[in-house]
Amino acid sequence: MHSSSQSPAGNTANDPLVAELASNMAEVRRRIATAATHAGRQGDEVSLIAVSKTHPTAIVEAALKAGQRLFGENRVQEAAAKFPQLRERWPDLRLHLIGGLQSNKARDAVEVADAIDSLDRPKLAEALAHAMDKTGRRPDLLIQVNVGNEPQKAGVAAGDFAALYELSAGKLGLPVKGVMCIPPAEHDPVGYFRQLHQIARDFALPVISMGMSGDYEKAVAHGATHVRVGSAIFGSRPSHAIVEAGRR
Ligand SMILES: *Cc1c(COP(=O)(O)O)cnc(C)c1O
Repeated sequence: MHSSSQSPAGNTANDPLVAELASNMAEVRRRIATAATHAGRQGDEVSLIAVSKTHPTAIVEAALKAGQRLFGENRVQEAAAKFPQLRERWPDLRLHLIGGLQSNKARDAVEVADAIDSLDRPKLAEALAHAMDKTGRRPDLLIQVNVGNEPQKAGVAAGDFAALYELSAGKLGLPVKGVMCIPPAEHDPVGYFRQLHQIARDFALPVISMGMSGDYEKAVAHGATHVRVGSAIFGSRPSHAIVEAGRR
């Protein structure tokens, strides 16, 4: 393990890991900016979520030292093990939970996250409403849409979106800010990105979370406000994590 705990925050010069992550993130940001410019958008309209799942706390710490503040994790327990201690030192960090969420983990999720990108069913909406009442915390919520109608994948069917939105944002008063998707791995994602963008437009939702290491430039071209990039920043993960992401 690289030891980065000795270098002062913001100093990338003496720590090879910090320097490497800084360089990877600069490259991703450069590509985001280029894709945005080509689409008539500004690069700074797009937030880069650095997906740090499976990587140890020391790696996240190095990314923080490299200047990154926005992170994504897909498991509540892993997020809870890594992030509260980091928050004490970097109070401005923000964490998105991007993985499928069981209703019985809603309270832990609400306690650890600043945003939960995977609201996809009525039972979870009700559990999150209950958890928010109990804790007084109100992380932003994104509704995950199963754009490819894949039976094994999380997300609400596009045809059920309106009902879930009415329940969540209407009846339960949840802070629903946008939409998220993970398109089928084997197809060109553009049609799916367009579909998600249209849903966001129809419901006047400002946040569109789509695009991963393999396709974030296309996502930016089609309206992503948040891209979720893991391996292009942190390198490859153990294979079980890749399967879990539903990609490759
Ligand atoms: C792991 C994961 C990502 C990042 O995947 P990469 O291909 O490594 O960029 C994005 N979104 C979700 C939901 C994930 O689980």
